[in-house]
Amino acid sequence: MIADGAGLSQITAAMYENNNKFNLENFKVVGLQKTHSANSLITDSAASGTAMACGIKTENGTIGIDTENKSFESILEICEKKGYNSGIIVTSSIVHATPASFYAKVISRANYQEIAYQLSKSEVDFFIGGGEKHFIKRNDRKNLITEMRDWEFVNGLDQFDSSTSKKVGYFISYEEPPSLIEGRKPLLDIGLNSILSKLNSLKKPFFLLVEGSQVDWGGHDNDLEYVTKEYIEFDRAIGVALKFVEENPNTLLVVTADHETGGLAITSDQIKKLSSKVRFSTKGHTASMVPVFSKGVGSKEFSGIYDNTEIFYKMMLQIK
Ligand code: MG
Ligand code: ZN
Repeated sequence: MIADGAGLSQITAAMYENNNKFNLENFKVVGLQKTHSANSLITDSAASGTAMACGIKTENGTIGIDTENKSFESILEICEKKGYNSGIIVTSSIVHATPASFYAKVISRANYQEIAYQLSKSEVDFFIGGGEKHFIKRNDRKNLITEMRDWEFVNGLDQFDSSTSKKVGYFISYEEPPSLIEGRKPLLDIGLNSILSKLNSLKKPFFLLVEGSQVDWGGHDNDLEYVTKEYIEFDRAIGVALKFVEENPNTLLVVTADHETGGLAITSDQIKKLSSKVRFSTKGHTASMVPVFSKGVGSKEFSGIYDNTEIFYKMMLQIK
């Protein structure tokens, strides 16, 4: 589970906004990851997503390909080859840099149409996210949705739940999904529940990516309410995941971020007036280490301080 752009201050502010209580507090194993990319101390989501998904450093903007132009399989793709099922649920478009790191290889993260094409050819089984546009309004005139014959596309979680298709996609928006403030209905917790039920019912191991995508966008906007609302939704999804791990102890759950966004500092000494006393120091990302919380089988590997590429290797220890 990745909350894009969520450093310690974003998590802290959201926790206080949520009456000083978070599902995140149930983790006993906590570590820190170094997020730098191959060419910058300050990473973007393509390079950091690639580091965690594929175990390699690359330049900012690039997905699944290293600095020598070599492509690498992601952990999701490796799992699929071993007979696992897989899923992705995000609150951005499904072709955005973080989810794309788990199924695409592109020099530029901005090549959304190519990323959509690669998703259409991928082994991903279930996805929920935005960005339908990139599949149907294309320069090559293809309609990927009609070409994705193995897939069923649904219009809501009810349909998603009742579908018996082996591959199911649910586009929550044509463009990028709106923020919670702009009226997006909270999705991550119930959507995660739906995907987990489906994956669990198939009685096979699985790899699942959950992204709270828009914490980062709130950081770029220097908008604390945007940040905290998006992270609180993410924490609700953490609650769903924690319950699943309790019921299925042979599961590894890793919760982290890809980098910090906004250089956020909390300068208030009054919990209830938190929002009036914070300071963002940049409109971009920062080089701060970000926390890693883990639970379940193999979780102990994730304590300590390590490079973001190690997330891949530590998860891989559990892939049989
Ligand atoms: Mg992202
Ligand atoms: Zn960002």
